[in-house]
Amino acid sequence: MSALPATMRAWETRGEGTLHPVERPVPRPGPGEVALRVHVCGVCRTDLHVRDGDLAPRRSPVVPGHEVVGTVVGLGAGVTRFAAGERVGVAWLRHTCGACRWCRRGAENLCPESRYTGWDEDGGYAEYAVAPAGFAYALPEALPDEQAAPLLCAGIIGYRALRRAAVPPGGRLGLYGFGGSAHITAQVAIAQGAEVHVLTRDAAARALALELGAVSAGEAYDAPPVPLDSAIVFAPVGDLVPPALAALDRGGTLAVAGIHLSAVPELDYQRHLFRERTLTSVTSNTRADGEELLALAPRLGVTATVTPYPLGRAAHALDDLAADRVHGAAVLHIGDLRP
Ligand SMILES: [Zn+2]
Ligand SMILES: [Zn+2]
Repeated sequence: MSALPATMRAWETRGEGTLHPVERPVPRPGPGEVALRVHVCGVCRTDLHVRDGDLAPRRSPVVPGHEVVGTVVGLGAGVTRFAAGERVGVAWLRHTCGACRWCRRGAENLCPESRYTGWDEDGGYAEYAVAPAGFAYALPEALPDEQAAPLLCAGIIGYRALRRAAVPPGGRLGLYGFGGSAHITAQVAIAQGAEVHVLTRDAAARALALELGAVSAGEAYDAPPVPLDSAIVFAPVGDLVPPALAALDRGGTLAVAGIHLSAVPELDYQRHLFRERTLTSVTSNTRADGEELLALAPRLGVTATVTPYPLGRAAHALDDLAADRVHGAAVLHIGDLRP
């Protein structure tokens, strides 16, 4: 393995609403960790919540970014899962205890000891990153870097949300909000036989939804043209919960996919919940969710619509995401040195 440089370019935040470009020491892998030279890092809405302090800072300053694709350039003590030169992905979940009652029943996403990339530890808005080998993903060769990155959070969380939304075979699924996660989830759902209806305020996103095979695309607060068996709220907007519940047919399920949601207005039992409608959340993901989606996505022909940014424009990428100016998923190209 060639020697790593001493310092690297990165972005960090203290949760005060801004990102700062910095020169930092290149991190060295600890026991059980791999070091990566980062190729690309996806930009996720959760990075905005870290930047803006919606998620209380757990490490400050922290390098955001949890859709990290890179080449292994260093192995900590005891790592046998990967070898130098392999391409791997690093996602949001990076540690669980393995011993609590949730870990033991296959729900490690609920582990109270869980830790996260780009929040508890430094992430991928940087030239190099380290991650626990046990939580990194081998990436299928069929997935180019730029396609793999959005799958690592947007894709995986959407996939878990899709399962939490319990779409019956051939059922009708409503997607509220249509950004990075929803546009991948829609493709998986359609490939698996669901009829997808999209509701979003963004006209370009509605056009993309129809292009990808959605049956209808309406304004965020419109009623869908048919009652829904399942729905997923992707937009971090609690005001969408009552209309999404009201749009459900008997026995329908609404899953809220975000880690952060603005206040949910008062619900009316008859209009929103009676007739056995279910309201549930989605909390992170298990490693099994990730393995499944990464294997499934290339097979189903899922293609993320990507808006690329050079590393030097990470702050702009987040501003664009906050203002709904990103088409599909934003991805930082770490080796692109343009300002
Ligand atoms: Zn645990
Ligand atoms: Zn994310």
